[in-house]
Amino acid sequence: MIDISLLNCVSIGDRISIDAGRGCPFGCSFCSAKMMWERSFRIKSANRLYQEILYYYHEYGITNYGLEHDIFVLDKKNVYAFCNLLLQSGLDIEWGCSARLDSVDEDMLKIMSKAGCRRIYFGIETGSTRMQKKISKNLNLSKLDTICDWLQEYGIIPRFSFIYGFPEESYEDVDATLNMIYHIYEKWRNVFSSCKGLFQLHKLIFYPGTEELQKVSNRLEYVENTHYDASRSIDHWNNEELKDIVSNVDIFSNYFEFKSELRSKLKDLDYFFNIIFYNAIIYYDVTYKLLLEKSGNSNLNLYYKFLDSIDEIMYSPFSYCESFEIFFKAVTDLLHKVVIKANSKSIKAIFEFEKDMFYFNIDNINVEDRRQIKKYECDVLKMKKMRLNLEDSSEVKLLFEKCNNKAKVTYYNK
Ligand code: SF4
Repeated sequence: MIDISLLNCVSIGDRISIDAGRGCPFGCSFCSAKMMWERSFRIKSANRLYQEILYYYHEYGITNYGLEHDIFVLDKKNVYAFCNLLLQSGLDIEWGCSARLDSVDEDMLKIMSKAGCRRIYFGIETGSTRMQKKISKNLNLSKLDTICDWLQEYGIIPRFSFIYGFPEESYEDVDATLNMIYHIYEKWRNVFSSCKGLFQLHKLIFYPGTEELQKVSNRLEYVENTHYDASRSIDHWNNEELKDIVSNVDIFSNYFEFKSELRSKLKDLDYFFNIIFYNAIIYYDVTYKLLLEKSGNSNLNLYYKFLDSIDEIMYSPFSYCESFEIFFKAVTDLLHKVVIKANSKSIKAIFEFEKDMFYFNIDNINVEDRRQIKKYECDVLKMKKMRLNLEDSSEVKLLFEKCNNKAKVTYYNK
């Protein structure tokens, strides 16, 4: 057990992580866990985990735990025993863990939820069945929807992690991954208002000893820091250490890049999907959906339409965290360029409406009696409600009003 009071970086009451064990028996070709732990699986006993939680709960009042393990749910007996201990104790805590799609079932999720599990991290990696086999992940992707239904039923929030840029990956494979991400968003958009954290997209990094590294080991080049890639940050190394990194590709292969045509063309795709796409789908849900339809329901095709202007937002001097309003304006300007190219009266109208909704909500915070009347070229209220393209609908006037601190929008017929 750790005496948290000795760690001045941890404030009491925060969520803490507990080391639950290590190792994984699966053989995914990009993953370093199997090299590190030689595919052996070890997990702390249910009672030991429970005792650790009891200690931190009673000593520090901590009520939120991350159980750190590559695949916590693999030993089902242990998971059930752990959940039963928590249920018998009546502790009011929540916790999260990691899993594979094929290592959970409904009964298990049900008891985990009753025992306080609120978060599960799933590594799906690719939405392409072909690539599932190539990288030896071998997940049955058709199970995803059922698992999402169970998670929703039992109130567990997932995070789905994806990777792109595998040496054998095609553009079609990447598109399948992006389309799966969008599909996940569609399944969850009515459950959360923000969907933040629902998925992650990473560009493949080649870890030492992995099969993916073997495929490209004589074609790697050293790369300087990339804009937000924590695994490659060199900020804390001195010149001597940097020399060691550059001359030891086998040990520090994660600092090296495999420059394929696909990886070069899609070099900013991870940034786009983790930052810009998230905000576009949340605030411009229908605009994005209709743009996607215009792009043949291919998220990759739609991404290409953003590519011309993406540098303007990626390398602009503001930080995403500093001012959300400035960032939102930059996302809006970027989206606006793509909307103009779409050359559709209805998409332009719904884009304007969704933008007005955002600004009316934030402008309106302390103004009880503010009213605005706006005109749109199509019936955007119906489009928003039905998430449909109503290109032939007629012009509407809408009344924006504040109601219980929220924007309310109705037709204005005067
Ligand atoms: S990616 Fe996950 S399932 Fe695959 S080997 Fe690594 S830890 Fe195991």
